[in-house]
Amino acid sequence: KPGDWQNERGTDMDYKIALIRGDGIGPEVVGEAVKVLDKIGERFGHTFTYTDVLLGGCAIDACGTPFPDDTAEVCKACDAVLLGAVGGPKWDTCPADIRPEKGLLAIRKALGLYANLRPAILRPALADASPLKKETVDKGIDLMMVRELTGGIYFGKRERYDTPDKGVECTDLMAYSEMEIERIGRRAFELARLRRKKVTSVDKANVLETSRLWRSVMHRLAEEYDDVEYADMLVDNAAMQIVRDPSQFDVVVTENMFGDILSDEASMVTGSIGMLSSASLNETSFGLYEPSHGSAPDIAGKNIANPIATVLSAAMMLRYSLDLDQEADAVEAAVKKVLSDGYRTGDIMSEGCTQVSTTQMGDLLVERL
Ligand code: NAD
Repeated sequence: KPGDWQNERGTDMDYKIALIRGDGIGPEVVGEAVKVLDKIGERFGHTFTYTDVLLGGCAIDACGTPFPDDTAEVCKACDAVLLGAVGGPKWDTCPADIRPEKGLLAIRKALGLYANLRPAILRPALADASPLKKETVDKGIDLMMVRELTGGIYFGKRERYDTPDKGVECTDLMAYSEMEIERIGRRAFELARLRRKKVTSVDKANVLETSRLWRSVMHRLAEEYDDVEYADMLVDNAAMQIVRDPSQFDVVVTENMFGDILSDEASMVTGSIGMLSSASLNETSFGLYEPSHGSAPDIAGKNIANPIATVLSAAMMLRYSLDLDQEADAVEAAVKKVLSDGYRTGDIMSEGCTQVSTTQMGDLLVERL
């Protein structure tokens, strides 16, 4: 943990970062985040040493597997991992066990990344991009989705079998233990303490046994963290409330599949997928940081992708894994300034602004740092 050997803050620290540039626009957006990190290093007196690691489609091409043997080991030897995105049509016809997405699931499991943090923030400069009504948007959107990432139905036992009278039948098992629920719950309450002190736990306790266990563990934690306001919400209602009034949420905590769906919905109400960062953390301060978007094969190689989601993911890395709050604040301030100065990539372009390329956006951020 960097904090253990960091004796004098801000003096010539060397941080090791594993870079998974990945597929599609991944290498383009990671390149800009590296430019920003290097500038931060120069300004605050740190060195970032990068090691490139393969995962996903490019790993299938190079090694015949989406998750090469040394990928997890190299990542574990670093302080944090920065990832672009993986996947694309080129690998859509690969057999199920060597698809790029398999690499993502495997690395989350191998690194024990059980907590996925996805902030959904509507920046005033981009308010027009939200599909919600102005009066809803004016109340502000600043929520943190905390999704359990290594349990539940995505990791449960799968079966496919023939039946005598109904054709093929399949099952996907959703399993959760108290331990898995408690550790993600604690993350959510701890995060809420650093924010507006409100946790909404989303489940389907009126139907699912796993949700009933989820709710009982969350209630126990809510008693312990009695300085944090707590509410239960059924997942169907949560899906509705996120579009009706997202300002009511501070920290939202939920299981893997509900979180997968709701975090995409929450990001959409901010209107700009190219702006949204994410962090996946393990028990320590180690984490994997990546934009919320995919590899955008439709715009790959054109130097038009928005690198801000990846740059903001790097800011989360500075904050959560490297304990560099001031540096993270500086990156976030540079993003705010570039937007208020009227610069936009194509995906967030609006009237009266100046459209810039991926690399120009990186340069403008560096200038402001
Ligand atoms: P996507 O997020 O890649 O793209 C959706 C739309 O948003 C596209 O029109 C794209 O051009 C646009 N977009 C995305 N990021 C952008 C950016 N930074 N700047 C400007 N525009 C941007 O989602 P998709 O099309 O559903 O998936 C494409 C591939 O990415 C698939 O192979 C999918 O499996 C993969 N994927 C990977 C991850 C990941 O690596 N974590 C996540 C989601 C999807």
